[in-house]
Amino acid sequence: ILETRALNKWFGGLHVTGGVDFALETGEMHCLIGPNGAGKSTFFRLILGEHLPTSGQILYNSHDITLTKSYERIRHGISVKFQVPGIFKALNVAQNIQIALQHHVAPAELDHEIDLLLNFLNLKPVARQLAGNLSHGQKQWLEIGMAVGLKPKLLLLDEPTAGMTPDETFATGEMLQALNREGVTVLAVEHDMAFVRQIAHRVTVLHLGKIFAQGTIDEIVANEQVAAIYLGEAHAQ
Ligand code: ATP
Ligand code: MG
Repeated sequence: ILETRALNKWFGGLHVTGGVDFALETGEMHCLIGPNGAGKSTFFRLILGEHLPTSGQILYNSHDITLTKSYERIRHGISVKFQVPGIFKALNVAQNIQIALQHHVAPAELDHEIDLLLNFLNLKPVARQLAGNLSHGQKQWLEIGMAVGLKPKLLLLDEPTAGMTPDETFATGEMLQALNREGVTVLAVEHDMAFVRQIAHRVTVLHLGKIFAQGTIDEIVANEQVAAIYLGEAHAQ
């Protein structure tokens, strides 16, 4: 569904994406891991078109979208939940979901679709609460819902479980698995290895802007060189 070829991004003298060749299969659940500053969020911004690459190509269903505008990529089915909050705090939960859905479902279906998505997100009981008053985990679910409301074929999630309790994290994994069964391809940046184990068919490790390792979660956990880059991070802190 998605491929990057020799993708490079420089910010001034900083080489943040270093020639990334990455391929994501349709129907896959894939996790992107790596130390802080590895370039994970930047990679997402390149895929969505919020940053233009310095060089290289991005293909979506074999079409070159390297120079395609961000809103066109969204229209063609790429949707992102970013690390930074993207909800309307002064609106209630149902109104937020309505904003996400309204251009992607027929008007006659809108109320029903809002209801379905609220149920799916475990947010039905708080539908009339202001988004700003939700618990941390509920806010994360609402944000996932905002991305899901765009009816994506490819859903990118930047740290969807950050700050969640273990129960909330597990429930999030089940939500994503349900979406995946309906045909949504999922790529998630994640730090929680239990969550990665729960959902990922394959894992890619990004380090210093480059793909450092790729494999199943068991292969990645057994890889001593991968463990070493995380140790380096612990020493630096
Ligand atoms: P984290 O796990 O902390 O979220 P990350 O892997 O998502 O890290 P990025 O946010 O992609 O990492 O950042 C990678 C590097 O690029 C960092 O050194 C960061 O400071 C730098 N960077 C990111 N965005 C910009 C920008 N707009 N301008 C300049 N430098 C940037
Ligand atoms: Mg990041």
